[in-house]
Amino acid sequence: MREALYYTTTNNGVECKLCPHNCTIQENKVGRCKVRQNIKGKLYSLNYNQVSTIQVDPIEKKPIMNWMSGSEIFSVGSYGCNFHCGFCQNHSISLALPDTIHISPEEIVAQALSLGLPSIAYTYNEPTVFYEMMLETAKLANEKGLKNVIVTNGFINQAPLMEILPYIDAMNIDLKAYDDPSYHNLGGKTVEDVLETIKLASKYCHVEVTMLIVPTINDDPKKFEELLCKLKKEAPNIVIHLSRYFPRYQYDEPATEIMLMIEFKDIAEKYFKYVYLGNVR
Ligand code: SF4
Repeated sequence: MREALYYTTTNNGVECKLCPHNCTIQENKVGRCKVRQNIKGKLYSLNYNQVSTIQVDPIEKKPIMNWMSGSEIFSVGSYGCNFHCGFCQNHSISLALPDTIHISPEEIVAQALSLGLPSIAYTYNEPTVFYEMMLETAKLANEKGLKNVIVTNGFINQAPLMEILPYIDAMNIDLKAYDDPSYHNLGGKTVEDVLETIKLASKYCHVEVTMLIVPTINDDPKKFEELLCKLKKEAPNIVIHLSRYFPRYQYDEPATEIMLMIEFKDIAEKYFKYVYLGNVR
């Protein structure tokens, strides 16, 4: 646990400024992500240096396809999330309290170096909610010549994003829905929050965007095309991943039809040069 970055003190407790929820948190309470707590008028990051998953993955698994292809990446995750998606694929660490081990940023960087790996990914659960650990590790990794990759839902305020971007080489950002009501149902707020992150990040680093195509949530081809048209104007050089949904967690709609995935790929290729399908075999 360490004191959090990005909060202010208010008459009603503290206000966390890390993500667009901007939670007001009273004494002894936690924010919506459940990993930032007001203790005696100060905000603390509860998952600081608490790692739930640590392993080596192919970079393509993040997924990142058009940057350092064929390399392996040292990947770390903690716990907690600022969204609550009914189809979460990592709910055991994102929406529950998993077993963790204590590892410092120095140890993460040392392990990556000792394995001869070129990069570190902040992934598995939403890394925005372990921002302090990610920022410290990314700075240290950058000093040691390692690359940094964030795999995120893109729901982060501009100030913390701008502070970390100089140390980040690539990002995969989920674009989970096409409109504000759908984002609201997933525990977020507006589609603009995420589009702004994509736009800003793509000015500083390599960006790939993943859209999980989920029946009844974002399977409308017309809305999909409208969003891609907008995205093209804001971030023309990004890579697109269209990932096929399978039933998970609290969501039991049948898997997305393969024909729909192909139709969406055809639409996406009208706007972007690189479009990949995922989970289709
Ligand atoms: S990071 Fe957590 S506590 Fe902070 S605003 Fe977002 S959901 Fe609320």
